[in-house]
Amino acid sequence: MRFDLITIFPEFFTGPLDHGILRRARETGLVNVNIQDLREFTKDKHRTVDDRPFGGGEGMVLKPAPLFEAVESLLGRSMGDAAQPQPPDPKTAIVLLSAAGKLFHQETARRFAQLDRILFICGRYEGVDERVATYLATEEISIGDYVLSGGELAAMLILDSVTRLLPGALGNEASSQNESFAAVSNASATLTENEDDRSPNFSRHSPLATRHFLLDYPHYTRPAEYRGWQVPEVLIGGNHAEVAKWRSAAAIEKTRRNRPDLLAPEVLGP
Ligand code: SAM
Repeated sequence: MRFDLITIFPEFFTGPLDHGILRRARETGLVNVNIQDLREFTKDKHRTVDDRPFGGGEGMVLKPAPLFEAVESLLGRSMGDAAQPQPPDPKTAIVLLSAAGKLFHQETARRFAQLDRILFICGRYEGVDERVATYLATEEISIGDYVLSGGELAAMLILDSVTRLLPGALGNEASSQNESFAAVSNASATLTENEDDRSPNFSRHSPLATRHFLLDYPHYTRPAEYRGWQVPEVLIGGNHAEVAKWRSAAAIEKTRRNRPDLLAPEVLGP
């Protein structure tokens, strides 16, 4: 898969791409990451990428021309104009990072992981000329309800979460299937009244009647006792069925505690 990061701060990405899963994915050729300096697509001696907003107001806005030309150069084709817009290849996403975009979720990462190529447009200043969102980008994406100084961190976050979903990126394929935000069916999922005897029968991959999401179950490692805090007994006993049951219940409990919004109302309870 190929990623292109269009930015006015190319050095921003030295470091984040050079560790762990991302580094290995690059080294093995699973992903190819290209960092594009937006200023290469300016024509004046000051390499200007921004200008004052029409209508007045605070700050500066990234101009459309360098962004259109950067994308066209990277794709090797024209994106057209108002008279004849040219949509990109459906296996390519042009993602504008924007606090005003649609929220990024694990499901978005899964959808992106099916693509061949993603170009990220990293905004700065007050943002980006709206024609980029409307006529160039295929997606306008926010990573959360807060305002960052630029799109670089957001692009990096998406690139990371998509890469780990690519087959072969993780040492253990199962680990991306059982992580937080795995979709589950609530068709057969109920919590029993007895808090000590929860036996939810979640199936993470069954056909879904109503979908909702679970956070990951809690993980423990050695020592079994640390400062008097014990690892739950069931995890040490070696009974795989009991461990699986405990993990299902613990995942629901953790989701209920930290992210009740992810649970279907019938699982969440009163
Ligand atoms: N004036 C904009 C607003 O109020 O929505 C904020 C602009 S912000 C200072 C500069 C750039 O940071 C944006 O163009 C965008 O690329 C990036 N950015 C800021 N918050 C973001 C978020 N939550 N998700 C994705 N990108 C974000």
